[in-house]
Amino acid sequence: MSAWETIIGLEVHVQLDTATKLFCRCAYEYGGQPNTQTCPVCLALPGALPVLNREALRLGIRTALAVGADVATHTKFDRKNYFYPDLPKGYQISQFDEPFCSGGAITIEFKDGSTKRIGITRIHLEEDAGKSTHRDTGGSVVDLNRCGVPLLEIVSEPDMRSPEEAYRYLTALKLTLRYIGVSDCDMEKGSLRCDANVSVRPRGQEAFGTKVEIKNLNSFRNVQRALEFEVARHTAALEHGSEEIVQQTRLFDATTGETRPMRSKEQAHDYRYFPEPDVPPVTIAGDEVEAIGATLPELPRAKVDRLATAHGLPRYDGWVLAEEPSVADYFEEAVAADAANDPKAVSNWVTNEVKRVLNEGTHTIDAFPIPSGALSGLIAMQRDGAVSATQAKEVFQGMLETGDDAPTVAKARGLEQLSDTDALETAVRAAIDACPKAVADVRAGKEKAKGAIVGHVMKQTRGKANPGVVQQLIDRVLAE
Ligand SMILES: [Zn+2]
Repeated sequence: MSAWETIIGLEVHVQLDTATKLFCRCAYEYGGQPNTQTCPVCLALPGALPVLNREALRLGIRTALAVGADVATHTKFDRKNYFYPDLPKGYQISQFDEPFCSGGAITIEFKDGSTKRIGITRIHLEEDAGKSTHRDTGGSVVDLNRCGVPLLEIVSEPDMRSPEEAYRYLTALKLTLRYIGVSDCDMEKGSLRCDANVSVRPRGQEAFGTKVEIKNLNSFRNVQRALEFEVARHTAALEHGSEEIVQQTRLFDATTGETRPMRSKEQAHDYRYFPEPDVPPVTIAGDEVEAIGATLPELPRAKVDRLATAHGLPRYDGWVLAEEPSVADYFEEAVAADAANDPKAVSNWVTNEVKRVLNEGTHTIDAFPIPSGALSGLIAMQRDGAVSATQAKEVFQGMLETGDDAPTVAKARGLEQLSDTDALETAVRAAIDACPKAVADVRAGKEKAKGAIVGHVMKQTRGKANPGVVQQLIDRVLAE
């Protein structure tokens, strides 16, 4: 065990999927023409007043309930003052000391099935800023479309002890957010952003080490890489005094895998928070919270638990299926379509073949050319020996291309396995006549020699004979 202990906390910003922005009626679509999705409110023109979009708060409450947090009965908004060219008001409307939500947790699961609870300190609502682009040719331009888009800031407790735990927390959090439909969580579009706080202390020491914040993390892998770099830097500083660790904000460079200083870390008082005078405090009624809770779907961990217990699946399979709720639904429909199929066999088909096709990006699960019942039919054909494993994959490909069911494709492409004993017996007898040496070897106890006879039958039937049936027939004929 290392003499040092790593402490990691994460701040995640998620853009909420509302029809309009947090305090005005502008719709926001990523990638729109710059400065076309704005109005006097989000442009901060004099006299324009914000009005809270209640739907954003409802999506926030939905998130709070999904992570088991407490929803406040009373909440308010505050001004966070700072200057930036993409922030026309000169302040951001955020929440300071009375967020709408506190507590809760995300449970992460490790490969060996063990789990750990990562606490959530608070979740609050705030508005997004615009986007500055600094041109290589000199000068900067600003796009204010993103100004006022609702953001949830989800702050974790400093409960993570390794970059890997941070990665797992982010993955689990994102999956939960996608399940409840509050955000598409697409990091490439900036709808999910993450800042990481990290410090290292001697194991056993209670006081935290000097904390560094890392920004510019555009993928979960990069969060992990940046943290690994920082942990190594802090540890070297503590062990060899290689440098002095100062509290600061650092930027991650994905090309070099290193971080570099950006600015000294600001303190809360630097922002001169004060209650937002233009947005009245908000009361949240118990029945509103209850009504939102009643619409929550089955959450990822509960789904994996159920897939494991109801269908006897390994948890690994459960997590692969649960990555997309509709893929898990497809699996369960396929299982229900034929009770004689082994659920693990169905899971193998869905997690391998179906997901492979989905990953190619030409088909979605909701409009998959092979309905769940048809996949179940194919699995039944393989189970009953009507097609071999190799033939089943070819039939699958045919079903994908034509939309026909498994028996139709198998017949049309001549992919049926010959299992008819009468038809095969003729071929087996011919093979036995044609391979006297192999027959003598089998009779002398060399089981392996049977392969030559099977091979002969396969050649005669162009690979369509059911090998299991052929083996049985060889035994029977030789025993005559
Ligand atoms: Zn607007």
